[in-house]
Amino acid sequence: MADVAPVLVWLRRDLRLADNAALHAAASSGAPVVPVFVLDLERPRAPGAAGLWWLDKSLRAFSEAMAKTGSPLVLRRGATVDALRAAAGESGATRLVHGRMYEGADRGLEDEVAAALGDVGVEVESFPGSLLLEPGQVKTGSGGAFQVYGPFWRALQQQIGEVRVLPPVEALRPPAKPLASDDLASWGLHPTHPDWSTGFVGAPGEAGALAALDAFLEAGLPRYHAERSRPAQAATSRLSAHLHWGEISSREVWAAVEHAGIAQGHEAAREKLLSELAWRDFNHTVLAAHPDLATRNYQGRLEGLHGRDDPAGFDAWRRGLTGYPIVDAGMRELWRSGWMHNRVRMITASFLVKDLLLDWRLGAEWFWDTLVDADEANNGLNWQWVAGTGPDASPFFRVFNPGLQSEKFDKAGDYIRAWVPELAKLPPKHIHAPWEAPPQVLEAAGVMLGETYPRPIVDHGEARDRALAAYAALKG
Ligand code: FAD
Repeated sequence: MADVAPVLVWLRRDLRLADNAALHAAASSGAPVVPVFVLDLERPRAPGAAGLWWLDKSLRAFSEAMAKTGSPLVLRRGATVDALRAAAGESGATRLVHGRMYEGADRGLEDEVAAALGDVGVEVESFPGSLLLEPGQVKTGSGGAFQVYGPFWRALQQQIGEVRVLPPVEALRPPAKPLASDDLASWGLHPTHPDWSTGFVGAPGEAGALAALDAFLEAGLPRYHAERSRPAQAATSRLSAHLHWGEISSREVWAAVEHAGIAQGHEAAREKLLSELAWRDFNHTVLAAHPDLATRNYQGRLEGLHGRDDPAGFDAWRRGLTGYPIVDAGMRELWRSGWMHNRVRMITASFLVKDLLLDWRLGAEWFWDTLVDADEANNGLNWQWVAGTGPDASPFFRVFNPGLQSEKFDKAGDYIRAWVPELAKLPPKHIHAPWEAPPQVLEAAGVMLGETYPRPIVDHGEARDRALAAYAALKG
C-alpha cells in the first residue's frame, strides 16, 4: 500500500475498543493508527487520588488490549497540546481524531488542540463521546436546554430510538516506526507509603466493565427495581467508574439492558436503570450549558446558606466518626473501597450540608479525591441536588433523618455491621441509634459510647431546626 500519513487518536476518558467512534473512524481510514494518552495533571481538572488509582489499572488493561490490535498505546506525560504536537511531528500524522468530552475545561482544551495542531497542518476531527445523546440533541419545545430532569427523560426516550453500538476495533495498522512511550509504572499512580488502596474494589478496564455488566444483567437487574436502595444488597450495576473512564459507553449499557430487560420481563427494573443512565446524560448536559456548576451554586440566592465553619465536624464526617452509624458506615466504605452506595451518598451528603450546615463544595472535594468514579458532572450536580442549590434539586427543607433512613434501607443493620465493626454485636433494633440503646444492651454488645464508638456529634432534631432557620432567614 502507498505511504499514507498516520492518524493520531487522542484518547482520554474513552479507554475502550468497542463503540468508540473516534477509534473506529481511524481504523476504517486504512491509515496507520497512533493511539495516544496524555497524562496532563495541570488541566483539565486532575483526577483525585482514587481516580488515579483506577486510571492506572485502566491504562494497563487498555495498553494490553491496544497492543493486541497491532498499534500499541503511546503514553506521554505533560502539557496536552505540546505532547500531541510532538506525537504528530514524530509520526508524520496529518489527522487527529478524538471523542468529545463535555466538561468546560475539556472543551476548552479541545479547542486549543484543534487550533495548535491546525497550525502545524494536522486536521482535527471530533466524534461523539460516551453519552447516550450529545448535549444539545435533547431540547425543550422552544429549542433550549432542559433544566429539569423529568421532561428531559421523557424527551430523551422519544428521541433515542433503537440504540446501535459500534463493534470492537480488532486490528489496526501500526505506524512504520513505533513512537516512544512512557513506562506506566514510572507515573507512580498507584499509592505507596502507605498503600491505602488494599481494600479497593472493581476490575478497571474494558473486560472488567463487560464482566460487571454481565454480572449485573444476570443477578442485579432482576432485583434492581426493588433493592437498588438497599446498601447491603449488591443490586446495582457498579458500572459508574467504568462509565466515567469510558471503558464502556452508556449506549452499550443501554442496548444491553434494553435487550436483557425485555427478554427477562423485568420492565420496571429495565426502565429504572435506563432512567439512571439518563441522569448521567442530564447532569452532563446541564454542566455543558453551565460549565461552572461543579463549584458554583445554580441557585445563587442560596449562596451562604451552608456557611458554618466547623473543622472538627468536617473531620468527623470524613473519618466516619459522627456517631450516626449509617453515615459512618458510608464514609468508611468510601475511604476503604473507593466507592459508596448511592442511597448512602445521599444520606452522608445530606448530613454534611444539613445536619452540619457545611458547604456542599467541601463534601464534593472530598468525594472527588476518594471516589474511583469521581465525575465532575455527576458529583457536582448530585451534591447540588442534595444541598437544594441545583437546577433540579431536592428542596432544602426536606431534611433526611439519618436514623430513619438507616432503619428503612438497612433494616437488619448488615451494611452498618460490614463497615462499623465496633457496632456489629448490636441487635437490629438498636444499631441505627446506639445512643438510645439501654445500657445493658450496649454492654452486652461491647459498645462504650464515647470510647469504642462516638456519641452523635450533633443532635439531629436541633440540627434540623438550625438548618431550617438558616434557610428561612435567607429566604426572608
Ligand atoms: P447504578 O444504580 O447501577 O446506575 C447505573 C449508572 O447510572 C451508574 O453507573 C451511573 O453512571 C448512572 N447513575 C446512577 N445514579 C445516578 C445519579 N444519581 N446521577 C447521575 N448518574 C447516575 N456518580 C458518579 O458516576 N460519579 C460521581 O462522582 C458521583 N457522585 C455522587 C455524589 C453524590 C452526593 C450523590 C448523591 C451521587 C453521586 N453519584 C455519582 C451518583 C450515584 O451515586 C452513582 O452513579 C452510583 O451510586 C454508582 O453506582 P452504580 O454504578 O452501581 O449505579
